[in-house]
Amino acid sequence: MKFVNDQAVANYVEKIGKQLVGTVENPPFEVQLFVIEEPGLNAFAAPGGYIFIFTGIILLSDNESKLASVIAHELGHVVERHIAKRIEKSTKVNIASAIGMLAGLLIGGPVAGALMVGSMAANVQTQLMFSRADEEEADFMGLTFMTAAGYNSAAMPEMMKRMGHETKWLGSSNVPTYLLTHPDIQDRTIYLTNYIKSKSYPVQLTKQKAHESTFQEIKTRVESEYLDSQLAERRFMNRIKDNPQDKMAYLGLGLVYARTGKNEQALEELKKAVRLDPADPAILSSLGRIYFNLNQFDLAKECLSQSVVMRPDFAETLFYLGRVDQELGYPAEAIKLFNRVLALDKNYTETFYNLGILYGKEGKIGLASYNLAKYYRAKGDHKNALYHFERALEYIKNDPAKTEEINQEIKKIKKEQKKKWDMSVI
Ligand SMILES: [Zn+2]
Repeated sequence: MKFVNDQAVANYVEKIGKQLVGTVENPPFEVQLFVIEEPGLNAFAAPGGYIFIFTGIILLSDNESKLASVIAHELGHVVERHIAKRIEKSTKVNIASAIGMLAGLLIGGPVAGALMVGSMAANVQTQLMFSRADEEEADFMGLTFMTAAGYNSAAMPEMMKRMGHETKWLGSSNVPTYLLTHPDIQDRTIYLTNYIKSKSYPVQLTKQKAHESTFQEIKTRVESEYLDSQLAERRFMNRIKDNPQDKMAYLGLGLVYARTGKNEQALEELKKAVRLDPADPAILSSLGRIYFNLNQFDLAKECLSQSVVMRPDFAETLFYLGRVDQELGYPAEAIKLFNRVLALDKNYTETFYNLGILYGKEGKIGLASYNLAKYYRAKGDHKNALYHFERALEYIKNDPAKTEEINQEIKKIKKEQKKKWDMSVI
């Protein structure tokens, strides 16, 4: 199992998580969300406030509320500390040790052990077998978070029904874990619907309408980037056949072509999408990326700049605009743009790398090393991260805040290399 490498997808899911967490009074953990590139219908909470969502869940959702309902349920498990409660009750030694290993991997953030964390967390989840009471509690808590965050609460039972429908066609050995470890779907939709009625929760969106177009963009990206490319291509072509005005289908088809290296064909499809809606920032941004890949930097800059005007807070567009300026020979502008990217998204790893290169060319060795260290740190490469942090310390002299930050990072890395865990992180 691996995490999706599309930062826009990861950020989007994280944002939903943040909105839900924002409604919790005193969350016991700092909650972090990760998207795993797997077609199955699964989502689970792991020790320490980590929540994992399979891409299959995004593909099954048809709006943001449905996706949020799955995240909200997992957040319910986290907030109620169900994992710790299960361990206390469990007599199986292997569960505790599996969780111990998992917690050890998670101390440095899942990136450090990305490949293992997902499958181990899934395994732990299956072994834990939350009780029915735990599940009901997670459902009800989830509904409360959703409603407080302005989502349509009816999306939760609707999403359950969808999952149930999907599983009907699968053999029993193919039933997704998410459903195996959860109460019967029919019961669940009934008690959820009754609960929503009894609380008079709103059954429409209250404040999230603007997010729906982002949802469609993200889902299109997941379909074009993580489904089998031929299957994705067929799906988008069929959608275009059914509705030649479906701009997202052209975007998706274009992204499938870009993924398989057919940049010229990608360009054609994206141009069609722009013709259908010249003011869609998502389409303009993707077109800009394709132009960038084709080394057509002036056209890339035009599309990306237009997109940024309409959507100034989308890290990826700013990143590519920075890359364009870097290629066109405007290092100062590129540095400014990259710093804007990091202000929006400190996990946009490639930015650190490019900043490192740019500062290096300007002879600012301290800043170059600092950024390269951040890059390697995010990649889970402790050795190179330490080397560059220590080099940065040598060169950065008159910045006490940065020196302090670097010292802290060095201390943290050294501690993480030892990887210890105890019950407090679960
Ligand atoms: Zn659950």
